[in-house]
Amino acid sequence: MNQELRDRYSRQILFSGIGEAGQEKILAASAVLVGCGAIGTVTANLLVRAGVGHLRIVDRDFVEPSNLQRQSLFEESDAREALPKAIAAERRLRAINSSVSIEGIVADITPKNALELLSDFSVILDGTDNFETRLLLNDVAISLNIPWIYAAAVRSYGVTMTIRPNDTPCLACLLETGQKPAALGAEDTCDTAGVLNAAAGVIASIEAAEATKILAGKTEALHGHLVSCDVWSGRFQSVRVARNPDCRACVRRVFSFLEGDAQPHITMCGRDSVQIHERSRKLDLSALSRRLAGASAAEVRNNEFLLRFRVSPYEMTVFADGRAIIKGTQDPAIARSLDARYISS
Ligand SMILES: [Zn+2]
Repeated sequence: MNQELRDRYSRQILFSGIGEAGQEKILAASAVLVGCGAIGTVTANLLVRAGVGHLRIVDRDFVEPSNLQRQSLFEESDAREALPKAIAAERRLRAINSSVSIEGIVADITPKNALELLSDFSVILDGTDNFETRLLLNDVAISLNIPWIYAAAVRSYGVTMTIRPNDTPCLACLLETGQKPAALGAEDTCDTAGVLNAAAGVIASIEAAEATKILAGKTEALHGHLVSCDVWSGRFQSVRVARNPDCRACVRRVFSFLEGDAQPHITMCGRDSVQIHERSRKLDLSALSRRLAGASAAEVRNNEFLLRFRVSPYEMTVFADGRAIIKGTQDPAIARSLDARYISS
């Protein structure tokens, strides 16, 4: 390690848990973050500052004004330009640490692309907002034998657990046997119940600390519990999760979420939007923009990553990878018909 790096990471090297040997390992290691929202932006910021060698960020969404209260890598200009979160995060993180290789990918993780996007990393980090995607990450991590860290926050509450294939219980052990924490009701998301930025920040910080231990080769220091906290009541909890001796994923190795067909449509994070993803080819956004100008769509706006327009009372956002997010409905049938009428035609 040269003097410049030794100086940059001096406070981490001084910490006896890491030392210079641990820092060397962090610099050579890689992480992939799925979902760059309240938790993901904090985790990515911490790991890039800590000097992780390579960070890939996969996110399907774009920055909106309501994100700015907690998604700490984004600025008002990102929301004005409706930049994809993966791109806005990549730009900001490059300015924070130019020696880290950062790769923002605008995509939705599905059974079709998960293995390709998540292979060959030292750790997989959860920044997602739904259990279906988390169980997909769990299947991928176990099948590829990569450690991964579950993290979630809603209201003033957050929870996290580190999963190491073969050594610890997995997320399916937790969720599919009813050990799921009661505070995380299935119906609750940050879009329906709200979330405090501090709750996401605490959980993301614990996630980043666990990732740092894995990247530095200090797995003996992992906390080994389901850790939860409520920043409103000030209550912290750390409980052991029992391995399910008949677990579908980590014992029987039945990867139902990985083997499932890619969902043709997904209702998103309870915010009155439906995502459609059924095109196998990329969309030409400028051609679509010209076509919409002649149709009854209003306020057609696009940047190099996405195109957005209004068909009152709906707002449609179309990504270059072929996905569309239709805001203003939770009905897949309405979303499909709008998609067929304005995008697929
Ligand atoms: Zn399991």
